[in-house]
Parts: sequence; C-alpha cells; structure tokens
Amino acid sequence: MAVVQFNYPTTIKFGAGAIKLAPEVLKQRGLKRPMVVTDRALGNLPMITDVIASLGQVGLIPAVYAGVYGNPTERQVKGGVNAYHEHGADSLVIIGGGAPLDVGKAIALMVNHPGHLFDYEDGKPDARPVDQPVPFMIAVPTTSGTGSEVGRSSVVSDDTTHAKKIIFDPKLLPPLVLADPELTYGLPAAVTAAVGFDALTHNIEAFLAKGYHPLADGIALEGVRLVSQHLAKAVRAPHDYEARAGMQLASMMGAIAFQKGLGVTHSCAHALSTVYDTHHGLANALMLNACMEFNLSAVPERMARLGQAVGVRSLDQDTLGKGFISWLAALKKEVGLPTGLAAIGAKTTDVLLDFAVADPCHGSNPRPVTRSDFINLFAQAQ
Ligand SMILES: [Zn+2]
Repeated sequence: MAVVQFNYPTTIKFGAGAIKLAPEVLKQRGLKRPMVVTDRALGNLPMITDVIASLGQVGLIPAVYAGVYGNPTERQVKGGVNAYHEHGADSLVIIGGGAPLDVGKAIALMVNHPGHLFDYEDGKPDARPVDQPVPFMIAVPTTSGTGSEVGRSSVVSDDTTHAKKIIFDPKLLPPLVLADPELTYGLPAAVTAAVGFDALTHNIEAFLAKGYHPLADGIALEGVRLVSQHLAKAVRAPHDYEARAGMQLASMMGAIAFQKGLGVTHSCAHALSTVYDTHHGLANALMLNACMEFNLSAVPERMARLGQAVGVRSLDQDTLGKGFISWLAALKKEVGLPTGLAAIGAKTTDVLLDFAVADPCHGSNPRPVTRSDFINLFAQAQ
C-alpha cells in the first residue's frame, strides 16, 4: 500500500515505508541537526540505525538520545533536554511506543521553556504558560496502543513519588506523524495483545464517556470495529500488513476519541500501574470486563451499539450489550492475555484504592464510581 496522507488532527503520513520520508521532510524545512529520541531497548536495532544512516545520507547531522526505559520519568526528560542542547539540535524525531513519545514531547517543551517540567502540569493553579516556540518534531509510533503520536499531552512520572503528571498543551501535538505499520511487525505477541487492549479500551471508554460529542463517538465506534477485525490476527500473524495497519489506525483513533474522556477502567489501570508497575495495556485488559459489567445498567443502549460494532448478531438491546461483554472476554482469551488480577498478584489495598479514587479518568465514566464500587470492581476482576 502506498503512503496516504490524513490532515486530521495533524499531518499523518500512513503506510508501509512512511518512515523513509523523515530525511526529506527535515531537509525541506531547512533543519540540519535532528535528535532522535527512542527507547533504550530500540537504540541499537536496525529500525533506529537505518533512520540515523538515512538522515546522514541527505547531509543532516543526527544525534540519538536513547535514554527512555520503563515508564517515562522527569529524569529521562532532563537527560534528553541536556542531550538536545549538547548536540545543538534543531528538531526531534521521536521513535517508539508510548514512553518515548511522551518523553520526546516533554523534551520538545522543555528545550525552550524555563523552570521544571512539572511547573507546566495541567490544571496546576500557578502553572507556567507554554508561550515559547517548540521545536519541529516528527512522531513515529512503533506500537499500536497509546496513540500518543496524535495526542496533545505527555504523561511523565515524578522520579521520587512515582505520581503520574499530565502536561497538556496543543503545542505538544506533533506536527507530523509517520505511521508505518511495518515498524510494528517485531512486536511480540504478548505486547501486541496488551497494547491492542489499550487501544480498544480508549475507544470503548471514549464512546461510553459522559458528555455530548458525536464526532468522538463516531471515531470510537469505528475504532472498536477495527480492533474486532484485526487484533487477533495481528497477534497470530505478526507480519500481516492489513492487521498491523488496522491496529495502528485503531490506536490513533482511540487517542483522538478520548479527547471526550475516558472512564473507570483507566482509573483502575492507572492505580495498578502505580502500585504494581503493571503494563498499562494489560492492566486495562484485566479490568475491562468487570468495569463494563458495572457500566452496563447505566448505558444499555450504548453498550448495545458496541455489540453491533463487533458483530454480535441480535435485534435485542439486552442481548447485544451482554454479547459485547462476552466478546471482550473471548477476545482476551484468544489473544492469550491472563483473565484476572491474580495473574499479577494484585491485592486490593488502601493504597491501591486511594490511587484509583484520586484518578481523574472516572470523572467522565457514565456511572459514578465510589470507593466501595472500586472495592467491588477489583474483587470482580480477581
Ligand atoms: Zn490507555
């Protein structure tokens, strides 16, 4: 498939080989010294060394910052800002999954802004303004889950408290995304499944979130349908282009749709990741069924429409909604993910509950969630 371009919500060049467009784009913009930001695990892979070589071939002088590992932290951002200045860089090429994308976007913010990263935390009463230029950045996703490449926020943890902080500004939306499904061929089955469930959860929770947003709803519903068509295949046949492309689209669509809001599944998942360091996508997968059972009575008509989107055949609303939840469980099994929290040894502690209750995502959940509801949800998900 040729590379196609979508100008929505940013410039996205999508298709096999899209990454090869990076050198020419930078050159045309008169940029000379790009810094590639990536994960420590990717730094020496051909995917990255090929990009570096291709940048050099057109006369650019690239540097690499491969200081991202695990969950993004402020220290990793600082390291990247220092590397950017040392290189005298003028642009960023951010390649990787959610973590490098979040770190890369935060680096872009901090190279020209004073103070500390968390001075710019979203919603902080005395937050500093994002009023300086942000360097040109190209985002190149290598997983299909977070969709951070089409998002305007960056989530970075405090190194000491481990609290996740959100930095939000339209300037953090990368002006160019090179989405190349072939870059996801190397993702192991378990990672494909877990990040795929993150994309699925974004689409589902955005569709069910409170508030009037038919634009987000339409995207979310199609995102769910794409996951139903492609996730199992992407896990089973890692080099299936159509399946990988479908999941990359579903991932971006989830992130576009969740501008509307997320829900209780993400609050549980954020708490599990903070306390047990659980992979974010896996945490969503482990919680999703219990959370949808919880939501069903509040939004029966919406749950039925999700059932239709994944191919449940019935004319009865109740059957469609319940069928959707059964489909979720079946898909989780099919892609080989564990079914309950026992698999990660998670126990419902006060600390876990505190993080879940404090998480803002459940504010847009279609059914209000109390502390005792969280106790029940974690028990249900065991
Ligand atoms: Zn997520």
